[in-house]
Amino acid sequence: MTQAVRPNLLGLSPAKLSSLLEGMGEKPFRARQILRWIHQRGELDFKAMTDISLSCRERLARETRLEPPPLRSRHDAGDGCVKWVLGTASGSSVEMVYIPEGGRGTLCISSQAGCTLDCSFCATGKQGFDSNLTAAEIIGQIWLARRELDSFASGAEARVTNVVFMGMGEPLLNFENVMDAVDLLLDDLAYGLSKRRVTISTAGVVPGIERMRGRTDAALAISLHAPNDELRNELVPLNRKYPIAALLEAARNYMAGLGEKRPPLIEYTLIRGVNDHRRHARELAALLRDFPCKINLIPFNEFSASEYRRPSGSSLGNFREILRQAGHTVTVRTTRADEIAAACGQLVGAVRDQTRRSERHRRREQAGIAEKNLIAGFGSRSREAATREGEAR
Ligand code: SF4
Repeated sequence: MTQAVRPNLLGLSPAKLSSLLEGMGEKPFRARQILRWIHQRGELDFKAMTDISLSCRERLARETRLEPPPLRSRHDAGDGCVKWVLGTASGSSVEMVYIPEGGRGTLCISSQAGCTLDCSFCATGKQGFDSNLTAAEIIGQIWLARRELDSFASGAEARVTNVVFMGMGEPLLNFENVMDAVDLLLDDLAYGLSKRRVTISTAGVVPGIERMRGRTDAALAISLHAPNDELRNELVPLNRKYPIAALLEAARNYMAGLGEKRPPLIEYTLIRGVNDHRRHARELAALLRDFPCKINLIPFNEFSASEYRRPSGSSLGNFREILRQAGHTVTVRTTRADEIAAACGQLVGAVRDQTRRSERHRRREQAGIAEKNLIAGFGSRSREAATREGEAR
């Protein structure tokens, strides 16, 4: 077998690893041994897997490989939060973030290098799409985080207790690789996380939510960000294809299929003058009246390529209060987590704007239109949306 086609065992789900070993004529228990070595002990050297026969180890070393993505940089926030930039096989970079909080340690991981969906408030969306991450590049993030946090050391507590697919990319547009990684996250022979502690966050890929039924029982988060289709079309262009009603219906069906009471998380990024008015809160409360869920409000994290602004403290407070008074369970992403997590995509390069929108901008630039005007033009999207929504603040 050549180097190029040797399978990377790091990303193989338990079922796929068993199948590969069976094809090599190995006994089924070999898969269990190898899963423990890789994902529980952090071992990448076949030679060190001493409870596996020498001939099997030699064959695995010849015909397969164990390769996590390369770590490019690490950024410690000083309060325990850590952000890493990783390389991908396509030559791109992705981010992952670790956020410790009380007894919980949440790892926010990426599923794609860049993203096709071009949400108007998102730093990753502005970089355009580069590639889907392989299952090894996805699960390799938790493997690397555990190594970096010394969680593989004998007796060390598992410092990553929760994993959320809220980093770069839309996980349901990289369905099979994400599901293979989720299988490993939930498997007791690998990371053994509870299904309640692994969350797939989607911008609204309705067919993907439908495919999740019967394939996984991981937790679901919906990136909603607007209480009506007109505004959501502006913020999340995917909404034009899968409007809010279809999205909530798919989420409702998924949750019903879990056979237990486990409400999805609704994520709502609050942007000043765009979607943070009391009127939006009332509309959101009404929209979700009969939709059991938890609502997470995320104050927009400003970045240089966007003219959107963070909401004021009073509009955030008013928004939360209206939802609470309507009977909803509401949390607000803390400033600490917000600074390092909501900014996903900002560390990778200088937020290269490679989207179709930026292509238009570049063409206009070549025609001699000043940079200042281009940026103003981009920002007008949010202002137009706000005006249409009757934002008399
Ligand atoms: S918010 Fe998520 S889905 Fe939207 S562009 Fe950013 S990474 Fe993609």
